[in-house]
Amino acid sequence: MTTDSWVNETLYAAWGQRFRVVRELAREKSDFQDIMVFESETHGRVMLLDGVVQITEADEFVYQEMLTHVPLLAHGDARRVLIIGAGDGGVLRRVLEHRNVEKAVMVEIDGAVIRLAKQHLPGIAGDAWNDPRAEVIVGDGIDYVRQAEPGSFDVVIVDSTDPIGVGEVLFTEEFYANAARLLSERGLIVNQCGVPFMQADELRETNLRRAKSFADTWAYVAAVPTYVGGYMTLGWAAKDASLRAVPAEEVRRRAQAAGILGRTRYWTPEIHAAAFHLPPYIAENLSP
Ligand code: SAM
Repeated sequence: MTTDSWVNETLYAAWGQRFRVVRELAREKSDFQDIMVFESETHGRVMLLDGVVQITEADEFVYQEMLTHVPLLAHGDARRVLIIGAGDGGVLRRVLEHRNVEKAVMVEIDGAVIRLAKQHLPGIAGDAWNDPRAEVIVGDGIDYVRQAEPGSFDVVIVDSTDPIGVGEVLFTEEFYANAARLLSERGLIVNQCGVPFMQADELRETNLRRAKSFADTWAYVAAVPTYVGGYMTLGWAAKDASLRAVPAEEVRRRAQAAGILGRTRYWTPEIHAAAFHLPPYIAENLSP
């Protein structure tokens, strides 16, 4: 059924995308943000937060696979993973696909996002919410990292909104310094870091902040269709620079051991290795 109802994304004042709406499923103003979930004609169900596309059923696999499998397989033996944000549960589900993960703690500030994702986007998280290795906390990620024990996690994945509003604290020097403290000696942190064609400042400025606490900072890319503007970047900060240079064949071996190989639709060992090779328009934002 086609309606004449459209949703326009509000991320950029003078450029964006729109979806023809089949039906609206939820619209709620939580304590933190406006939340909307709707059935689109082309991308399945879509969640917007403050008018910005967070996830669509059609292309969430691209983003979740790259935000999760790259850091865990680069580390090679991640057993304790901290997820900040990611209220839709997609990152949690993919972290738990790694058979060597023993503990996944997810800290999401807005319980309404979790509730509405469970209700209207159940396929994103699948059964991850009920996995005995998962601990889901409704709280501010900055508070959690401030009190976390030193060396208590191997990988941190920050799947947050952009650095405005509640997401802003997750892009600060204080946040990255606390992340470095709570990570083990080969630990690393990756984060949603925008579309540099339109948000280069976000990548450049947050990379400088990550560099104050981590020996190796860079970024890698994924082509997420509904994060309009070409490649999106995932910020990278690691204590060990070698983690970024694991050859595709070793990544393949690790993925086989972790039970990931053959279960992905975007990530491959070759895409993993290639994702760190950046076009100059992106790399120029990362030079020290
Ligand atoms: N994939 C999306 C993207 O790339 O924009 C992000 C998805 S996820 C829905 C973003 C989540 O970050 C939201 O649910 C939001 O509530 C959460 N978030 C924002 N600031 C936060 C904070 N300070 N602590 C924990 N979660 C936060």
